[in-house]
Amino acid sequence: MPHNTKHYDTLGVSPTATETEIKKAYRKLAIKYHPDKNPDAGDKFKDISHAYEILSDPEKRESYDRYGDEDPLDVAGWGAAMDPTDVFAQLFGDVAGSFGNPMNNKRPRKGEDLIHKYSLSLEELYIGKKVKFSLQKNVICRQCQGKGGKPGSVKRCSACNGLGTKVATRQMGPGVITQTQSTCASCNGDGEAIRDKDRCKQCKGAKVVNEKKAMEIFIEKGMRHGEEIIIRGAADEQPSIESGDVVLVLQQRPHPVFERQGSDLFCKVRISLAEALCGFSKILLTHLDGRGIHVEQPAGQVIKPGDTKRITGEGMPHRKQPVDKGDLYIAFDIEFPESNWLTPEKLKVCF
Ligand SMILES: [Zn+2]
Ligand SMILES: [Zn+2]
Repeated sequence: MPHNTKHYDTLGVSPTATETEIKKAYRKLAIKYHPDKNPDAGDKFKDISHAYEILSDPEKRESYDRYGDEDPLDVAGWGAAMDPTDVFAQLFGDVAGSFGNPMNNKRPRKGEDLIHKYSLSLEELYIGKKVKFSLQKNVICRQCQGKGGKPGSVKRCSACNGLGTKVATRQMGPGVITQTQSTCASCNGDGEAIRDKDRCKQCKGAKVVNEKKAMEIFIEKGMRHGEEIIIRGAADEQPSIESGDVVLVLQQRPHPVFERQGSDLFCKVRISLAEALCGFSKILLTHLDGRGIHVEQPAGQVIKPGDTKRITGEGMPHRKQPVDKGDLYIAFDIEFPESNWLTPEKLKVCF
């Protein structure tokens, strides 16, 4: 049983209703209860319009499905900003509208995603990494198969009539009426009641048990800061709801030597004035996989302060084709001698 279906119930549609079905239901009810036609209907029209305002907007609907509309800011914002008759005017004034998108027709109800930040080094993003971790999560109780009790022992909660929630209307200020919805205390939002003696011994009627699950993911070479690794359906299990995903958001720690921009790497290397003037052939720096990067600068090609050198193919691996890599840009920091590096006597010799 979905934990929050108030707006669907208001419009008399199922939580899986399509946009077209929602629109149709709203049209019918809005005409019936519009204050011009039915001044005695009280708040009914407001409720219908609010429900429609949420459910007709894919973003708001998604958020409502996940979180309900218990966010007081959201509810207050609606009350203050929206005149229900505007929604009405919008709907009937704009025939073309943005409705009936065939892509959005099926919406299976889904549990919440579990989002974790996963911190890792630039080296790990360069080389790739297998990550094993354990996740504490709810799984369907095997003892009762998620029923919570013996077959036939589960009854509808009488306190909330099986809805799992109770609705209270409140006046927040002039013209601002909000409806708050709270979870039914008797059934904890399940809408169901089980006698104590019939409760499943394993989950104590909760239908789920908390377990530690081992998981494994692979950080592919070349993945980026902010990228998400999604393990579909791995979040908490709940009876009759599709499990949400476990989402790991990669967070790359700053690197002391390299800075990444897309597939390219940037770094700064200090060389002596003699090297800048006379060239060199040496290992300039250590790469992310521990290899020394040998650089040759021919004698006679002077490096000036602020010069950079591009080393093709020594950047980050491309995600889909890790054999291909970006480039490495080395900016030179030239170490000039300190003042008075020559005594006045020696200087005289020079000139
Ligand atoms: Zn209840
Ligand atoms: Zn159980």
